[in-house]
This record gives sequence, structure tokens and C-alpha cells, in this order.
Amino acid sequence: MMKILAIGQHPCDIEFGCGGTIFKYKLKGNHLEMLIIADQCNNTDSDSLKKEQEYSASLLGVKKIHWGELPETDSLKANKLNTRVKKIIDDLSPDLIFVNTPSDTDYSHKLLAEIVLSNSRMVRNFLYYETITTIDFKPQVIVDITSLIDDKYKAIKNFESLKDTTEHHRCNLPEYSQSLGKIRGRLMNVQYAEAFEPHRLIINL
Ligand SMILES: [Zn+2]
Repeated sequence: MMKILAIGQHPCDIEFGCGGTIFKYKLKGNHLEMLIIADQCNNTDSDSLKKEQEYSASLLGVKKIHWGELPETDSLKANKLNTRVKKIIDDLSPDLIFVNTPSDTDYSHKLLAEIVLSNSRMVRNFLYYETITTIDFKPQVIVDITSLIDDKYKAIKNFESLKDTTEHHRCNLPEYSQSLGKIRGRLMNVQYAEAFEPHRLIINL
């Protein structure tokens, strides 16, 4: 059994980037936890968003959600973010970490990715996922999620409070995630896939 930690800056980042893959790991008996730094996204109501996140995580079999527990003004302060991220990684000692790629136009995503990386020297496997604000991404590790695409869609669609945010006016997140899944699926000739960039991936032969 592997211990897996999926990390995201905002609610729904993880579901979008690696929701199908972590659910697949869960169905194969692995232990799954999440760390989400912010409980808000463009002034959404944090109580509703937290409830939506908890429900979506439960759909994907996540055992526990850790929150950043930082006031919004502190979530971009590297030292405070570093202390929180370090504690979660040290306590869980995961075998595999998923976090958004640092190649992103959202500064909070960039900062998070860098801080997670610097606290993951002892983590055997480390994969970057893509978000809707990713700018440069080489899809090098591919996972077939065809059988779980409906679960992923449901987990993303559940985020009702995100529908009024600016980013959602620009793109319909559940549909965009399916379209991207189709494009990534072409890389391995399946209907839907998720893609990752490896920082470190140990192949057990
Ligand atoms: Zn985000």
C-alpha cells in the first residue's frame, strides 16, 4: 500500500489535475490524503466551498483533507506556507506526491509547487499535474482514466460556488476537464487520460 498526498492551492485544483488518477490509486487499496491551502477562490463563501471540497474528496475516496489554515494574507508568505507544508509532509511521509506544476500564471500555484518540492527530498515519487492556468507542460507520464471519467466529472461539477468566479466565466471547468482528458487520452490511445510531468518517478522492476 502506498501513502499518497495530493496538494492543491485551491479547492477543485486537485480534482481537475489528478482526480481520476488518485481515485484509481484509491480503488487499488492505497491511502489517500489531500492538502488544500486556500478555502476561498475569488471571494467565494469559504464555508460552502469547504463543504463542496469535502464532498468531492469523498467521491474520490480521500481519507483526510488537511487545510492550509493560514489567513488569506499569509498564504503567499513563503515562510508560513513552508511551515504548514513541511508539517503535513513530515507527518504523513508519503510515497507519492501530486502538486500543480510551477509553470503557471497564478503566482500562488508557482509558490506552492516550489515549497512542496523543497520539502520532498525524501519522497520517492513526485508528479506535477496541470491546471487551467498552466502555461508550459510536457505530458510525459500518462494514466488511463477512461473508466473513472464520470466520477471525475461529478467531483468537479460539485463545486457550485466556483461557478460565479472569473475563471469559470472564462471556461466551463467540468467540460474543459473532459476535453483535456480526451487530448491526453490520444497520447496512449484511450478515451480519457490524465498527464503528469515527473520530478521523480521510481519504477519498480
Ligand atoms: Zn488554483
